[in-house]
Amino acid sequence: MHRTVAIQRNNKIQCIDMRQRIAVIGGGPAGLTFARVLHRHGHPVTVFERDPSPGARPPGGTLDLHENLGQLALDKAGLLAEFQALSRPEGQAMRILDVDGTVLRDWRPRPDDRANPEIDRGQLRDLLLGPLDVQWGRGVTEVGPGTRDGVPVRFADGRQETFDLVVGADGAWSRVRPAVSSATPHYTGVTVVETSLDDVDTRHPDLARLIGDGSMAVYGMNRALVAQRNSGGHVKVYAQFRAPLDWHTNLERHMGLNRRAGLDLADAEAVRSSLLALFDGWAAPVLDLLRHGTAFVHRPLYVLPVSHTWAHVPGVTLLGDAAHLMPPLGVGANLAMLEGAELAESVASAPAPGDLDEAVRAFEEQMWARAGRWAKITTAGLERLVSPDPAEALALFDELQPS
Ligand SMILES: Cc1cc2nc3c(=O)[nH]c(=O)nc-3n(C[C@H](O)[C@H](O)[C@H](O)COP(=O)(O)OP(=O)(O)OC[C@H]3O[C@@H](n4cnc5c(N)ncnc54)[C@H](O)[C@@H]3O)c2cc1C
Repeated sequence: MHRTVAIQRNNKIQCIDMRQRIAVIGGGPAGLTFARVLHRHGHPVTVFERDPSPGARPPGGTLDLHENLGQLALDKAGLLAEFQALSRPEGQAMRILDVDGTVLRDWRPRPDDRANPEIDRGQLRDLLLGPLDVQWGRGVTEVGPGTRDGVPVRFADGRQETFDLVVGADGAWSRVRPAVSSATPHYTGVTVVETSLDDVDTRHPDLARLIGDGSMAVYGMNRALVAQRNSGGHVKVYAQFRAPLDWHTNLERHMGLNRRAGLDLADAEAVRSSLLALFDGWAAPVLDLLRHGTAFVHRPLYVLPVSHTWAHVPGVTLLGDAAHLMPPLGVGANLAMLEGAELAESVASAPAPGDLDEAVRAFEEQMWARAGRWAKITTAGLERLVSPDPAEALALFDELQPS
């Protein structure tokens, strides 16, 4: 790709940088992987992130990065060896219990198994950030429409900048998406309430043993409790249940609980006690995950329509959850990262600036096909994991897990 052109001005030869002005909106797995791979190819790129700083909010739980998805993306970024040093292969272990606490499956990886090791989201973010130019506290409000000068991006701070390519990697509630598509996420009917435990090996050794080295899941009728080890003895617990979106406004009507009053989601003790009532009858050690949990975060699960596509718009594209939000069954971040890496490679290898749009168009076709397949798999998977028949979840585990 020709990066510069030489022109003569005032009897002097000047070199003009012909590289495209590229903006990434969102510094999650998709945006940072895109920027990091582009940076590796020597192309300048700026990431605009709404959060005021990297530590502005808890980074979230653990991610398993698959050999053929997230790890492939890290390889393209030149970061695979560093990932392998940080990640937890033993975290692939998976245990399934029934609601009485009986262990039904206890799968452990071989010592050399590196198919899906776990890494804390915060560690992954720091790994990807490296030398990148990230402008923190630059929330985007609107993108486009494009003009001959490029695509305008408007920021919450009132500023506006113009780019040749705007990559929307700004997650589920993307502000870039409306520039290419009118689709909006809809509720799946499943809500997650997340809590966490710290220092589990010393403070809750019984729970540490129950969870094992990786994840533990208990499936009941239209309910599930999943606990996942992060590094440093931190455990995230996800209480999942089928419920209307406004379940918390009337627990008697919506959840069949003997409580007429609405639930204040900001009141941790009230949420804990409602969850204990919702999971009433489950084995005491399993419920201890809720009894000892600290903060509770309400996360109703939303998705975009399966196989979401759009008519190509020059100068704007989407990656990751912004393009194909799907149920969280272990692939969203993986897809987001691989897409980021692939788009960056396509952009970097476009032979001339005029070929950029064709490169993006070809990338979109590839992304839509793969994401569409995964959206179908994860949508069907959620139906089986949080279902009226807990045997469905066990059957799904047996179909997917290597023996
Ligand atoms: C409970 C749970 C567990 C999950 N577990 C897994 C797992 O094990 N494996 C897996 O692969 N996936 C998992 N996922 C899915 C995964 O989290 C997402 O698919 C992934 O984070 C998507 O990455 P992204 O970069 O597209 O979006 P995000 O991670 O959402 O990042 C978007 C970024 O954009 C920023 N942003 C948002 N709006 C703006 C704006 N207007 N302007 C500027 N910046 C903005 C945000 O602050 C954020 O930093 C899980 C999801 C959930 C909810």
